[in-house]
Amino acid sequence: MAFNRSRPSRPRPRRRMTYHRRKICRFCADSSLAIDYKDSKTLRLFTTERGKIIPCRISGNCAKHQRRLGLAIKRARNIALLPYTTSIVR
Ligand SMILES: [Zn+2]
Repeated sequence: MAFNRSRPSRPRPRRRMTYHRRKICRFCADSSLAIDYKDSKTLRLFTTERGKIIPCRISGNCAKHQRRLGLAIKRARNIALLPYTTSIVR
């Protein structure tokens, strides 16, 4: 990685004017909502239809709850409450 000194540093692009609503972690917002590996109904909300865990930048979960959620989903997969993947028959 060569540092090019001759190239003038361009100013960083301005922030996009798109309205971005700050997502809130729903487990922090609602204390009655608990992360339980046996509760496949709640966990299913945080997985894609292919069975993948939705990242926190999409779901808006905080780091603490995203970690617990990931662990719960993995436990639920292990006891076959959630799928690891779904086969799409073509
Ligand atoms: Zn949280």
